Amino acid sequence: MTVVPEDHVEYDVLVVGAGLAGLHLAGGLAERGHSVLLCDRRSDVTTSIRTTGIFVRRTLDDFDLPERLLGPAIRRVNLYPPGPGVPIELASDRDEYRVGDVAGIYAAALADARGAGVEVRLGTSYVGPCEDEFVLRHEGRRVVVSARFIVGADGARSAVARDLGLDSNTDLLVGAEDVLRATHAPDSPIFHCVLDPVLAPGYLAWVVNDGTHVHVGTAGYPRRFPRGPRHALADFRALAPGLNEEERQARRVERRGGAIPVGGLLRRISSGRGLLIGDAAGAVSPLTAGGLDPCLRLSDYAVECLDEALTLDDPAVLTGYDGAFLRQKFAGRVAMRAALARVRRRTVMTAGFALLRTPPGRWAAEHIMFADRSFPDAPKARKRGSNPRGSVLPVARSGVR
Ligand SMILES: Cc1cc2nc3c(=O)[nH]c(=O)nc-3n(C[C@H](O)[C@H](O)[C@H](O)COP(=O)(O)OP(=O)(O)OC[C@H]3O[C@@H](n4cnc5c(N)ncnc54)[C@H](O)[C@@H]3O)c2cc1C
Repeated sequence: MTVVPEDHVEYDVLVVGAGLAGLHLAGGLAERGHSVLLCDRRSDVTTSIRTTGIFVRRTLDDFDLPERLLGPAIRRVNLYPPGPGVPIELASDRDEYRVGDVAGIYAAALADARGAGVEVRLGTSYVGPCEDEFVLRHEGRRVVVSARFIVGADGARSAVARDLGLDSNTDLLVGAEDVLRATHAPDSPIFHCVLDPVLAPGYLAWVVNDGTHVHVGTAGYPRRFPRGPRHALADFRALAPGLNEEERQARRVERRGGAIPVGGLLRRISSGRGLLIGDAAGAVSPLTAGGLDPCLRLSDYAVECLDEALTLDDPAVLTGYDGAFLRQKFAGRVAMRAALARVRRRTVMTAGFALLRTPPGRWAAEHIMFADRSFPDAPKARKRGSNPRGSVLPVARSGVR
């Protein structure tokens, strides 16, 4: 038998997962002069996409997403009750959402990360720790990585979280989406959201037109879909608002889907050996299930902490990367998620929907859909001997690498 010699490589930081969180963090660390290995089991980051790509106003304001990769601005949201019923029409005088060309955004972020000096290995899976090192696998070959720190950017069911003995997501929705070629581009695009506990148990079903494609999706608690999310998606598509007949019948150009952690930011997201970001850290709004803004912000904060830990050669700095502290700011949204999760019948949702039509209900709906904040500002990375929770990060425009 031929023994294939294993690769042995050495980096400051190993980042597992080249989703938006991992790409953004890897580029940020490399720009600060650290050596970074970024691996992903996908051999192409533009495939197996797990997001619709709706970016909220706050992200658009604070991060330099490439303009050419963003669809038209959306200022209108229609909320629909279960079954036939008049929607609640919300309108903002600001550009609230834009749907990104996610494959293009990942490709641009990957090119930027490489440009910053990140070593990227695609088609390479994280296997686990081995003594003081980490083992990856690429085409059947073991790669042993010696790294000062490891970052789990490996999604909702993070193996890195498990191996570092950190918290793991337990409250998970599952989402499924069809991407269809748009046959019309509305002058004033609408984000259609249907609150139906059968088609989207515990969450909502949506239709949004990005000018090129129409995204039709649903998400909910997996065990509560009567016949699973794919059947629910087919049922929804047959009746969904915002689709013309041609689009309703069209073959999909892509199917997206995946788990969405909605239990709020996890408490224990760091150890002296590494930390978690993005979905792996539960950095998703428990109420809206939006994870793109949180994953960018938490990645920026993680860059600050890792940079300091590497510069000071002090792993204790990572204790300041504290999910329990940030989680407190999610308390209201966690409570609202619990309330939404309890609605299992269409009659109850219809009754609740009537409340949304009252002035306070409408105010609450606008407040949620057109929120000014989606993720708490992180504390500054700790300087030795300083108060780790003393101040907030300045909101600097930062590129999505
Ligand atoms: C259907 C759906 C629609 C959504 N729509 C929106 C939206 O419109 N707006 C919004 O704000 N949020 C949305 N979300 C949530 C948002 O997309 C996520 O929160 C965000 O993309 C998480 O990014 P991430 O980088 O943390 O994780 P991911 O994008 O999941 O990336 C994790 C990466 O880790 C890799 N990986 C995993 N395990 C290993 C391993 N062992 N070895 C190597 N690589 C590994 C995976 O291949 C993957 O590339 C949606 C989620 C879903 C499921």
